[in-house]
Amino acid sequence: TRKIAVLTSGGDAAGMNAAVRAVAKMGLYRGCEVFIVREGWAGLVAGNVNAAPADVRPPPQRAGKYHGNQDVEGEKFAATFGEGELLQEGAGEGLKGRHILKVGWDDVRGWMDIGGTLIGTARCAEFREKEGRETAAFNLISLGIDALVVIGGDGSLTGADRLRGEWPSLLDDLEKSKRISAEQRSKHAHLTITGIVGSIDNDMAMTDITIGAPTALHRISEAVDSIGSTASSHSRAFVVEVMGRHCGWLAVMAGLACGADYIFIPERPPKSEDWESEMCNGLKSHREHGKRKTIVIVAEGALDRQLKPIKPAYVADILTKRLQLDTRVTTLGHVQRGGKPCAYDRLLATLQGVEAVEAVLDATPQTPSYMIGLKENKVKRVSLMDAVKATAGVGDAIEKKDFDQALQLRDPEFLE
Ligand code: ADP
Repeated sequence: TRKIAVLTSGGDAAGMNAAVRAVAKMGLYRGCEVFIVREGWAGLVAGNVNAAPADVRPPPQRAGKYHGNQDVEGEKFAATFGEGELLQEGAGEGLKGRHILKVGWDDVRGWMDIGGTLIGTARCAEFREKEGRETAAFNLISLGIDALVVIGGDGSLTGADRLRGEWPSLLDDLEKSKRISAEQRSKHAHLTITGIVGSIDNDMAMTDITIGAPTALHRISEAVDSIGSTASSHSRAFVVEVMGRHCGWLAVMAGLACGADYIFIPERPPKSEDWESEMCNGLKSHREHGKRKTIVIVAEGALDRQLKPIKPAYVADILTKRLQLDTRVTTLGHVQRGGKPCAYDRLLATLQGVEAVEAVLDATPQTPSYMIGLKENKVKRVSLMDAVKATAGVGDAIEKKDFDQALQLRDPEFLE
C-alpha cells in the first residue's frame, strides 16, 4: 500500500481545498493510505511532536453514518477524525502537536467550494536549510510515508525539487546519525514527489494555468467593473494595482477582460524610455474618442526598461498633472486571493489531483518527479525539475533585461 501525504504551501489560492480533496479521495479510492500535512513545509518539519503516530488513532464509530460506502469498503473509507476536528487549530487531544494526520473519505467532505486552504499554509525558513529538510525526511520516514503531493507556487515546488534532489544524501545523514535504521533506509530509498501548482499568479512555466488564477481573475474583473461605475459617472481615472508577484498574467487578462486603457507588467516594460508621454498620448486619444473613464492596471511587479518599479501612485500623479484627470488609486490586495473557487478552478484542481495520484502510482525509481500541468486543455505530467528551472529562468531573464527571453520562457505563444 502506498502511503501518500499531501500538503499546501506558499500563498493560498482558491481551489487548493478541492485539490487536497481530490488527492485524498482518489488516493483512498485507489487503495492508498492518505495523510494530510498541516501548515505546509512547516508542518512537515514540525512533524508529530509528543503525539502518537497519526495512524494509531482508531476510526470513530460513527464514520459509517456519513458515508454510504461503509458496507462495501468498511474502514478504508472511514473518517479518521470527528467532524470538523481536522480543521481546528490544536483541537481535541488527538491533534495536539500533530501536523501529519491520516485522513478518511469523510474528512474532506464539503471541501470543494471553500476558499483558501483548510489544512493551512505557512512560509517556512527552516525548509530552506538542509537541516530542516532532513527533519522533514525523518518525519515522513517515521510514519512510513513514501509519496508526497505538494500543492503550492513556484517557491514551494522549488523546495519540493530540492527535497527530491537531496533525498539519497538526506538518508545517508539520517542513517549515520542513527535516526533511521538501515532497514528504513532501504525501504524509503525513493520518495515519490508530485507537484500541483496552486497560485493565483499563474507564474509557473510549462503549464498554461495554475489553480486559483481563474478565480483571482474573476475577483479582479468584478472589482474593476465596480470601480468603472464611479469612473464613468465622475469621468475619473483609476489606477488599479493587481497582484501577480513577478508575473503579469493577472494584469494582462484583467486588462483585456475589463477593457482597460493601459497595462503595466514586469515581462514587457513599456517600449519607450519616456513611457509617461507614451501612456498619456494613448489615454488622451481614448478620451478624445469619447471615453468618460480611464482605467490603468499596474501589476505589482511592473517595471520600466531600467528595471525600476512602476508604482501606481506615480502613474496617478502623471495622469493628474499632465492630463488634468481626477485620478484615484485602488490597490486590490487580498480581496483578489480569497473567496470561493470558481467552477474552472474546482475542475482544474479535481482533474489535477486525480492525475497526481495516478502519477504516484505509476512512479518507478526511474521516473522523474512530475508536476501536473495543463497544456492545450489537457492535464499533463511534466518534469518538475524542468518546470522549476524554466520558472527561475524567467526571473533571471528579466534581471538581465532580456525581456523576449522572459516571455519565451513564461509562455512562448500567448503574450506574443
Ligand atoms: P509560493 O510557493 O507561493 O511561491 P514561497 O516562495 O513563499 O511561496 O515558498 C513557500 C515555501 O517554500 C517557503 O516558505 C519555503 O519553505 C519553501 N521554499 C521556497 N523556495 C525554496 C528553496 N529555494 N529551497 C527550499 N525551500 C524553498
